[in-house]
Amino acid sequence: MEPMEPVIGLEIHAQLNTRTKLFCSCATDFGAQPNTNICEICTGQPGALPRMNKRALELAAKAGLALGSHVNQVSLFSRKNYFYPDLPNGFQTSQLDPPICQGGELAITTASGAQKIVHLNRIHLEDDAGKCIHDEKRGISLIDLNRAGTPLIEIVTEPELSGSFEAVGFLKKLHSLLVRLGVTKGRMEEGEFRCDVNISLKPVGSAVLGVRGEIKNLNSFKFVGQAIDYEIQRQTALYERGQKVLQETLHFDSAKGQTRSLRSKEEAHDYRYFPQPDLPPVQVSDELLERLKGELPDPPEKILDRLVSLGLRPENGRLLLERTDAVEYFDRALGFYNEPVKVFSVMEEFFLPACHKENIGPFESLFGPEKLASLAKLMADGILGRRKVQELFSDFFTKGLDPQKELAGHAQIKDDGELMGIIKEVVSSHPKESEKYKKGEKKILSFLVGLVMKQSQGRAEPKKASELLKDYLTGKA
Ligand code: ADP
Ligand code: MG
Ligand code: ZN
Repeated sequence: MEPMEPVIGLEIHAQLNTRTKLFCSCATDFGAQPNTNICEICTGQPGALPRMNKRALELAAKAGLALGSHVNQVSLFSRKNYFYPDLPNGFQTSQLDPPICQGGELAITTASGAQKIVHLNRIHLEDDAGKCIHDEKRGISLIDLNRAGTPLIEIVTEPELSGSFEAVGFLKKLHSLLVRLGVTKGRMEEGEFRCDVNISLKPVGSAVLGVRGEIKNLNSFKFVGQAIDYEIQRQTALYERGQKVLQETLHFDSAKGQTRSLRSKEEAHDYRYFPQPDLPPVQVSDELLERLKGELPDPPEKILDRLVSLGLRPENGRLLLERTDAVEYFDRALGFYNEPVKVFSVMEEFFLPACHKENIGPFESLFGPEKLASLAKLMADGILGRRKVQELFSDFFTKGLDPQKELAGHAQIKDDGELMGIIKEVVSSHPKESEKYKKGEKKILSFLVGLVMKQSQGRAEPKKASELLKDYLTGKA
């Protein structure tokens, strides 16, 4: 068999951060008593007329602007017809042509560390369905329509991702961006950010895509990764046996770690899209577009200028900009230790590679910015050398240990005799400074304490060291 490679395209549903639903004023609260946030519009009563939620429109356009999409100032709602008990209208109100946003892109870091642009096909507005709850004990199904009519955007990528690493990296970066923009709250366990994964294999280098499976409704990054790896294996095995991959809709069973077929293409829906006659075209005015552009976070060039003004080299600044949330993490670390170059260098050498290896964002790691700051300071003070950090870092990182505390707890010098030995060494190797102290230049003490700390590899207790040092220099000890 010729070598094959996976191709992945994602359809992401993000719940827009609105108080009310897309076409009525019912609340979007999660976890309310079933069927309490409903009205004649979101339950599809005959004659009820939907009215567009302005804020949902703004958030969708804002997402598009932040992702470099073209925002269509006029777009249309269509009815996407299908029958399902939790879809009271008998259709989903969605956008086919034109959607609110077209095109766009997001850069990700590949497994090898390179930058890769992933293109977006479109972003459109649509409403969510209700929920069926199957009560197997009682042998009945219940329907909760609280979620029906909740505003969503669907973001559709081109089939350009090459495996679970890239797909998960893409989703994490997108999630972080949309949450930071306030477009979605992004609570995945509540279904506010979920995705369908389309995946196929093709001969390496071929321009023709293979037949795809579509794994529906994944709501955790971990499951996305597992589902993709499983599906690549499954499809590879089929090709190896000379069998065909069927175009199917799949469900990922997270308990088993396997995908299984929900329906084949033969049973696939024909949605019979047609324009939704109850809603006027969606309009984004020039004023709104300008205002939204003004609300976007600083563009990368501006952030880069700021990083350079802090003393970073441009290529270092770009490295932070490339990685998900790295600039935010860096800024937070500076809040604990305001030495940009030193903080950056610890991020570059130890922290970011560890995040990359795990394919997690900085804030997902247990090693928070305050810990990184403390590590950078210990290194800058010469208390921890690079070699030592190389040895310890993976432990710090995976367990989320505070380096300062670790050092203090580890092997703190309990024995005054040992500490005094170090103090004597420091004093005898720095006669000039010691002399100055004796002559009354008290400020120099902290310099000498620093040397004791360094000499003891951080194992000395600074207060104790300072007292003993004073005693020794003034002849009391
Ligand atoms: P549908 O709406 O029927 O699911 P689309 O053509 O809109 O189909 O594609 C949906 C998603 O599937 C997009 O993200 C696209 O990139 C991806 N996709 C389409 N064809 C393939 C394929 N052969 N392999 C992998 N992904 C694909
Ligand atoms: Mg699809
Ligand atoms: Zn309603």
